[in-house]
Amino acid sequence: QAKSMGRNTLSFFDPAMQAEMSDNARTASDLRDGLRRREFVVHYQPQVDKAGMIIGVEALLRWNHPERGLLSPAAFIPVAEDTGLILPLGLWALETACGQLAAWSKRPETANLSIAVNVSVRQFRHPDFVDSVMACIRASGIRPQRLKLELTESLLADRMEITIEKMGMLKSLGVTLSLDDFGMGYSSLSLLKRLPLDQLKIDRAFVADVLTDPNDAAISRAIIALAQSLSLQVVAEGVETIEQRDFLAYQGCDQFQGHLFAKPLPVEALDALLSNPVSGMVVVG
Ligand code: C2E
Ligand code: MG
Ligand code: MG
Ligand code: MG
Repeated sequence: QAKSMGRNTLSFFDPAMQAEMSDNARTASDLRDGLRRREFVVHYQPQVDKAGMIIGVEALLRWNHPERGLLSPAAFIPVAEDTGLILPLGLWALETACGQLAAWSKRPETANLSIAVNVSVRQFRHPDFVDSVMACIRASGIRPQRLKLELTESLLADRMEITIEKMGMLKSLGVTLSLDDFGMGYSSLSLLKRLPLDQLKIDRAFVADVLTDPNDAAISRAIIALAQSLSLQVVAEGVETIEQRDFLAYQGCDQFQGHLFAKPLPVEALDALLSNPVSGMVVVG
């Protein structure tokens, strides 16, 4: 007893762990400053259909940190979630995406594009979440169908009834709902049937090895078949090669996202891509 306590006490002073703790504390206070100083940016990664036409983008947060450079979500989203700062940050991302949709709606070539916004569990659970989505839609004047919310399977771990009810409220606002990183969690088939979803996203962990690992090929095939039988769209993320794209397309995948087509881009680069002569067409095999 005493021995194991001693060990725990010791591990608390583990230098690596302590470094990580103070790193996180620094990140947390930096996050507050960063929000105030508007250091965050949204990058947009194209999503394409079977013909290679861009049909929408996923909004992905980046932090333009004054000392540490451009940071990926892995460096700050976990801390933002722990501290609750994901609430203002997530709202900012949502507002920014709606503003972008409003700008695109003024040009015929971009009027039909959708933007997918990631929603963390903590954001979704917040009592004001549905109201804040409604407020963003109203303020920007966008068609709500163009806004896609990406939810994750961890949302389905508990509090199912309230989750389904909230998803229903979002659907009645007219927004599109997607289940991100699908296949990594535990959503049962019977549960999936009860969710008012529009889309499943195959996690990129499966896509990565779809040609080399028979299990991942089988899982991807099963997800696509499942989506089809539930009349859901299916999109594969992390598509890096033509062979992966072809395999998934052959299985019936509708949409693709990944470095094969484009990396997440600053808005200027995306606008340049969208307004080039082959309007919205990106390379496919
Ligand atoms: P996610 O929603 O699953 O986003 C897809 C991730 O895969 C992105 O990483 C994207 O850059 C990456 N990706 C796309 N195609 C490829 C590819 O072909 N190869 C490789 N290696 N990677 C690819 P990113 O931008 O680092 O974002 C990581 C995660 O951070 C996201 O995963 C999402 O869960 C979270 N995130 C990003 N923005 C937000 C946000 O505004 N709110 C919340 N709550 N989470 C966010
Ligand atoms: Mg996502
Ligand atoms: Mg994903
Ligand atoms: Mg993922």
